[in-house]
Amino acid sequence: MGEFTFDDMKKINRDELGEMVPLELFRAIRLIGMYQGLPMNGKSTTITVGRKIGESLPVQSLEELLDFFIQLKIGMPVVEKKSENEMRVIMKECFCKGIPVQKGKLVCDLEGSILEGALMKMWQREVHIREVKCNVNGDEHCEYKLILS
Ligand SMILES: [Zn+2]
Repeated sequence: MGEFTFDDMKKINRDELGEMVPLELFRAIRLIGMYQGLPMNGKSTTITVGRKIGESLPVQSLEELLDFFIQLKIGMPVVEKKSENEMRVIMKECFCKGIPVQKGKLVCDLEGSILEGALMKMWQREVHIREVKCNVNGDEHCEYKLILS
């Protein structure tokens, strides 16, 4: 038996309901199911799940990856600063935008881990990503810090 691939995910055959599900379903899985429902707000799970998804994405370059996030409507990532070992990614229009503020909560770690997994596979090097800002925390946007080693 084979494994599911990202390509399989795109094979959709639904006449009535089509290929879209509402954002509130994605949010419910992410925030009620994972963040709230798993131990430690799902931390170790989101790393595993996110990296695995990231590795499966059919992208060959950073530009393609950023573009793919827009296509998937996760958000609109913008690389803000890039040095040899560090970059910052601002996630405009993040999926969490509009959720009422709850101070102290950074909830978009899975999406960061997807970036991490995709970049590690693409660049064949260690990438560590940390969520440093989040709309839900009351910040002006969601933001990740990436350390490349
Ligand atoms: Zn967010």
